[in-house]
Amino acid sequence: MSSTVVTHIGELVTNDPEAEDLLGAIADAALVVEGGRVAWVGPAAEAPDADEQIDAGGRAVLPGFVDSHSHLVFAGDRSQEFAARMADTPYAAGGIRTTVAATRAATDEQLTSHVARLVAEMRRQGTTTVEIKSGYGLTVKDEARSLMVARQFTEETTFLGAHVVPEGDPAAYVELVTGPMLDAAKEHARWIDVFCERGAFDEDQARAVLAAGERAGLKGRLHANQLTFGPGVRLAAELGLVAVDHCTYLDDADVDALRDSGTIATLLPGVEFSTKQPYPDARRLIDAGVRVAIASDCNPGSCFTSSLPLCVALAVREMGMTPAEAVHAATYRGAQALDRDDVGALTVGRRADFTLLDAPSHVHLAYRPGVPLVAGTWVDGRPV
Ligand SMILES: [Zn+2]
Repeated sequence: MSSTVVTHIGELVTNDPEAEDLLGAIADAALVVEGGRVAWVGPAAEAPDADEQIDAGGRAVLPGFVDSHSHLVFAGDRSQEFAARMADTPYAAGGIRTTVAATRAATDEQLTSHVARLVAEMRRQGTTTVEIKSGYGLTVKDEARSLMVARQFTEETTFLGAHVVPEGDPAAYVELVTGPMLDAAKEHARWIDVFCERGAFDEDQARAVLAAGERAGLKGRLHANQLTFGPGVRLAAELGLVAVDHCTYLDDADVDALRDSGTIATLLPGVEFSTKQPYPDARRLIDAGVRVAIASDCNPGSCFTSSLPLCVALAVREMGMTPAEAVHAATYRGAQALDRDDVGALTVGRRADFTLLDAPSHVHLAYRPGVPLVAGTWVDGRPV
């Protein structure tokens, strides 16, 4: 088995939970990769020999970003809706229904090549693990097809038939989602998700969808408390879900419930950036002892960025996180939000998924916003 040493790393972020600092950072470090896994980390001067050598030239190496929330399977363009929103002018197009119509009309090949382009875009920005949801098909056939497309790119696929009620009676639609649609979707999905929000699905409907998903062997997650206060976050905590996403409007009982349950609050600052809404208060959550992840929520309507570096910068600038907390939230916590212990850190035995920054430290991700700092991305020890 051939081995590679990456040496002269100015700052190696390991996210080692045993380390004294949050990022487990090692200065003047080396990383040895063997068989796609991390075989050794430590000071460069003590690194063992390897078959191949990569010289990082004093630059930083980080675990690859783990983007635990995206909606990449769609067709169509909603840039005019964004332009209207930024100009504070009314816009009459159908929002999510525009995307649903375009997605249903697209061929499998068109959907697949679009997801491939977006995943490649993510890779160039340092993302090595991505979760992808369905949710723009909203028929039995189109939801199953969306998940089959997503599965070609990731094991972390999520059935989101309960995204919006496409038309007709909400109760009848929940019956469809928890019955025939779930049956068709379950073999292609690991997770099930519900948009639990006023105007989408209420608490009882969310419970019904998550319970049906659990019976079908899918693990639950939730979109909740994005637009206003509501029951979603407490429901996620009560059910012991791994993660609940958005968490913009939280009362004290919500924060306590997250802390006590250990459910991860996944914040999606690209959404607030792209919709001119107030940002969630990451500082309040972290200070209360809640575990916080950040993810992109890449989607055509409320946030069409695939960039975790942008989300890190926003988390620091707008949500009260330190650069170290934001990087940790986009890597280690992202992995936890997907219940994964093989990614999100560069410790011995984990997957050798990492990025090389054109910068001496992780701080530059927030300090130099908008600059393409990712010089290379490796997945399973191979450059991509
Ligand atoms: Zn979302």
